[in-house]
Amino acid sequence: MRSDGRGHADLHLHSDHSDGTEPPAAVVAAAHRHGLRTVSLTDHDTTAGWVEAAEAAVSLGMTFLPGMELSARHEWRSVHVLGYLFDPDDTGLRALTDRIRDSRHTRARRIVDNIGRDHDLTWDDVAARTAADATVGRPHIADALVDRGLVRDRGEAFAGILHPRGPYYVALYAPDPVTAVAAIAAAGGVPIVAHPAARAPLPMPVIERMLAAGLAGFELGHRENAEPGLSVLRALVRERDLIETGSSDYHGTGKPNVPGEFTTSDEMVARIAARGTGSALVAP
Ligand code: AMP
Ligand code: ZN
Ligand code: FE
Ligand code: FE
Repeated sequence: MRSDGRGHADLHLHSDHSDGTEPPAAVVAAAHRHGLRTVSLTDHDTTAGWVEAAEAAVSLGMTFLPGMELSARHEWRSVHVLGYLFDPDDTGLRALTDRIRDSRHTRARRIVDNIGRDHDLTWDDVAARTAADATVGRPHIADALVDRGLVRDRGEAFAGILHPRGPYYVALYAPDPVTAVAAIAAAGGVPIVAHPAARAPLPMPVIERMLAAGLAGFELGHRENAEPGLSVLRALVRERDLIETGSSDYHGTGKPNVPGEFTTSDEMVARIAARGTGSALVAP
């Protein structure tokens, strides 16, 4: 297990309410087994797992920090904005997540139709791998491809059949990152860019507009972050005194990521807690 040794919080975990493979209580139990004391459930574009995760956390003597990973896009770049402590009933944010989730559904069906032209795959295969009302994504299609014996695992599916530059890909609707940040902030939440130095980094002028819209910080600790982008953001965080988090982005058996492989310090958890006004930490 890799660890930065600084904290006891993992603020980026997925359940089967999106593309994790376990229900929220099992995700929290996995975090507990890895010695974590504060957890956030950050399913893509949904808060449906909060109640179960909060109850599981409290029953294990852990603190629950409400969260979500909001889908956004800048030009062709997929951008993920983590939101913490926002009001889950905020109408603006709800409208945005409803629209994204609708689009994800339509788009997943179109991708499956496209794949079905060449391979033995139907929407029923995907539905069988998607929990009721879950935010559907390519990982669910990947799991159906595994069931059909067309690929070995999610990684192979993403590298091939599901690749964005492949013949079957369809994009989802996603707001621009400034809109995503503003929507979380308007709901009383704390917006943090997820895995900000993974793949194609955002141009600095876009980051400046996100900061002006209320961006609070960056997830500097994440296995997919890479140089040189990481050093640039580390310097920005220091210079502007922004919040920095570290997390695993655990997806159950859907990814190799292990709870606690990167962590967030108690100081940063306290800063998030002090800034978020739309919902509250749930402590034992
Ligand atoms: P989508 O949002 O439907 O476009 O799918 C992107 C999601 O798939 C992200 O949330 C990632 O967590 C997940 N993902 C991306 N690449 C991989 C991979 N190689 N293996 C497993 N999951 C992946
Ligand atoms: Zn995911
Ligand atoms: Fe992400
Ligand atoms: Fe994630």
